[in-house]
Amino acid sequence: MLGWSINLFRIRGITLALHVSFFALLGYIAWEGWLEAGLEGAAWSVAILGAFFSCVVLHELGHSFTAMHFGIGVRRILLMPIGGMAEFESIPREPRRELLITIAGPAVNFAIAGILWLVVGTPNRWSLSNYEADLIGFAHLLLHWNLLMGCFNLIPVFPMDGGRILRALLATRLPYTRATFWAATIGKILAVSGALFAAFWWETYLTAVLFLFIFYAGEMEYRALLRRELIEAHWRETLLQLDAIPPEDPPVINPG
Ligand code: ZN
Repeated sequence: MLGWSINLFRIRGITLALHVSFFALLGYIAWEGWLEAGLEGAAWSVAILGAFFSCVVLHELGHSFTAMHFGIGVRRILLMPIGGMAEFESIPREPRRELLITIAGPAVNFAIAGILWLVVGTPNRWSLSNYEADLIGFAHLLLHWNLLMGCFNLIPVFPMDGGRILRALLATRLPYTRATFWAATIGKILAVSGALFAAFWWETYLTAVLFLFIFYAGEMEYRALLRRELIEAHWRETLLQLDAIPPEDPPVINPG
C-alpha cells in the first residue's frame, strides 16, 4: 500500500514522494477553506497545509542528512497524511548513531520555531485554528506547529522518534533485541493509553486512530527485527556447522 505514491523531486539523491492518500487530505482541506471563505479561503488553507508539510520534509531531511553523514543511504522520503517517513537502507545498531540521527528530526522543528520566535516573537494565543489571517499570524501558526511537531515526536512511543531515542538509550545497557522489545512494549502501553485518552477524553478521533496506527507500526518493526535476527542466527549456525565438518582425505584414484 505504501507503494501508491508519486515522485516529486530529488534532494541530494533522496526522492521526495507523495502518497496518493495525500490528495484526499488536500481536497478535504481545500473544501473546508472554500466553505469558510470561498476561493481565498481554499487558497489560504492549501498554503497552510503546504507550509506544514514543508516543515515535515525539513524534519525528515534532518534525520536523512545525519544518517548520510554516517554513511547510511536514504532511498526516499514518503509524505503521508499522518506525517513523513524517511526510508533508510539500514538502521544503525550503534546506539550513539541512532540517537543522533533520531534527535536531528525534532531538532530541526525546534530550530525553525526558534528562528520564527526571534523574527515575530511569542504568539498572542496558542491555537492551530484561531489565528490572524496575515503574515505575522501565519508565522505564529508555523511556530506553534513546529513546537507541537517537535514535542509530539518526542513522546516515547516506538517507532516514533521518542521511542527510538528510548531504544537507543536502553541499547547502551541491553542487547539490541531486548532494548527494542522494551521500547516497543512501553510504546504500545502509551499508544493504547493515548488512543483511549484521545477518543474518550479529548474526543479527537483522528488522534486516536493515529495512536493505533503507531501501535501497529511499532509491532511490525519489532517483528521485522526478530525475523532478521532469526535469519542471521540461522546463518551463524550454518557457518558453525560448516566449520565443524572434519576435513576428509581427498579421494585417491587407485592407479590399479
Ligand atoms: Zn522524526
